[in-house]
Amino acid sequence: MHILSVKDLGKTYKSGNRSLTVLDQVNFDIEAGETLAIVGPSGSGKTTLLGLCAGLDSASKGSVQLNGKALERLSEDERAAVRNQDVGFIFQNFQLLPTLTALENVMVPLELKKRKDAREKALELLKKVGLGDRATHYPTQLSGGEQQRVSIARAFANEPKILFADEPTGNLDTETGDMIEKLIFDLNKEKGTTLVLVTHDPELATKTQRIIHIKGGKIQEDAHA
Ligand code: ADP
Repeated sequence: MHILSVKDLGKTYKSGNRSLTVLDQVNFDIEAGETLAIVGPSGSGKTTLLGLCAGLDSASKGSVQLNGKALERLSEDERAAVRNQDVGFIFQNFQLLPTLTALENVMVPLELKKRKDAREKALELLKKVGLGDRATHYPTQLSGGEQQRVSIARAFANEPKILFADEPTGNLDTETGDMIEKLIFDLNKEKGTTLVLVTHDPELATKTQRIIHIKGGKIQEDAHA
């Protein structure tokens, strides 16, 4: 089964009377449980593509089917519901909420659960990423690597079917990067979560089953290992 189907996808950013097409006629399908890296030069459209696939932004052309739902047919609220239910997203710059503690950040996707259950689950996730003792710290009190681990715990909280990660190991030292990498790949092994990673790191890319090369907003190569 395809967890993600991208058809004739296009994205044009418009500001005033200027427009910039950053994705054009992009096509690919991803099987449930697959691991895939998207690589390409800076500015080639990787982050934009990831955002469209995850329902964070809407396409200018074409369609994205995520877990059987055509995102372009959904309202913003419906898209948010799909994101909450099916998607985990790890941002390059973490995007933790600064006014919430580490624990509260991880609880955000669990808001529909009873508060006590959400706290327990969030603490369990923080322990899994090695931050059980940082639960009451605020993002500014954490190192970059620790913030990234909190953001991973948050991305795992809703037990997503598909995890998108934008340069998850960028800006981190090798040791922390290795730890983050292991957490992400373990999720695939343990729960069968589909992984879609944008990365500059060729070593990380070769650890996935498939590499999509993108340049100038078009797929140049789609190679299975
Ligand atoms: P990559 O992740 O490969 O570096 P991006 O998807 O971030 O590429 O960006 C592709 C192009 O789109 C770049 O030229 C960038 O400046 C432009 N871009 C990205 N986001 C926006 C936006 N919100 N508005 C206008 N242009 C954007």
